[in-house]
Amino acid sequence: MSEQVRDVIVIGSGPAGYTAALYTARASLKPLVFEGSVTAGGALMQTTEVENFPGFRDGVMGPDLMDEMRAQAERFGAELVPDDVSAVDFSGDIKTVTDSEGTIHRAKAVIVATGSQHRKLGLPNEDELSGRGVSYCATCDGFFFREHDIAVIGGGDTAIEEATFLSRFARTVTIVHRRDTLRASKAMQARAFADPKISFAWDSEVAAIHGTDGKLSGLTLKDTTSGDTRELPVTGMFVAIGHDPRTELFKGVLDLDEDGYLKVDAPSTRTSIPGVFAAGDVVDHTYRQAITAAGTGCSAALDAERYLAALS
Ligand code: FAD
Repeated sequence: MSEQVRDVIVIGSGPAGYTAALYTARASLKPLVFEGSVTAGGALMQTTEVENFPGFRDGVMGPDLMDEMRAQAERFGAELVPDDVSAVDFSGDIKTVTDSEGTIHRAKAVIVATGSQHRKLGLPNEDELSGRGVSYCATCDGFFFREHDIAVIGGGDTAIEEATFLSRFARTVTIVHRRDTLRASKAMQARAFADPKISFAWDSEVAAIHGTDGKLSGLTLKDTTSGDTRELPVTGMFVAIGHDPRTELFKGVLDLDEDGYLKVDAPSTRTSIPGVFAAGDVVDHTYRQAITAAGTGCSAALDAERYLAALS
């Protein structure tokens, strides 16, 4: 157990975690930041060009943006640790956070910014072609697919919303869905059915992903009822089969919603336990953007600062 009781511990190092670290560091709260051992820097480390983060007129590479955020937080005194948190105890006034080696760290406030993980199809070539035709975010990448033939995988609200958004750019959009009816809301369905660029591959799942010269060139679809296969020549595939918030550590500790996201007392970032705040994609199943994660990271830092000020 470390002797020191910190003001703030931040768990997570995406745009939400680094922004919370920056603000709490500039408020002289000397945050200890657990960045994660494998995915320090968060989801944007997996991407290439980011064109929609304000302040970069020519765009910025995802890893470069995260390096800048990291360095900015460090410049003001954030202590960054490339390690995972393996357990938390938020039951007392002093919260504890255990690292991967079992050392217990103590703080008066904790900011949770552990993000969420998009679900993958789990097929060969998927990772290799990610950012090269395979995407998980239409808002992020749609612009790169002007006049492409695109497949959207999924049948829920997100998939249909992504398909109608993508039809602005694409030549064609094929929604690939395992069943013969959609789960999306009726209004969303009506919009998709009325869109001349959108067609449907019903009762179908992706059986194989094909690449040519390192870029997506097509999919093999399998009929879920007959088992027949057919080729779909597309240069874009958007996988919209859901996200899993990284909240395993907080089950039974903090209130979660029915999808497993952390509940906050919006518009604040207060969780169900005083002194514990949450920001970014671990809370947000609506916007899921770097700028919104950074924005709520700032809110969490200010909420933590006010909470600490009220204690003294
Ligand atoms: P994340 O960025 O997911 O960071 C979570 C952090 O928590 C990680 O650092 C992880 O290591 C850490 N963590 C998790 N568990 C633990 C633990 N137990 N202990 C310690 N640390 C832990 N958004 C845009 O605005 N524009 C884009 O162009 C764009 N492109 C994208 C491309 C891809 C391929 C992906 C996957 C996402 C993209 N996004 C884009 C979305 C954007 O990346 C996310 O909305 C944003 O990163 C969410 O930030 P966050 O800080 O909430 O979480």
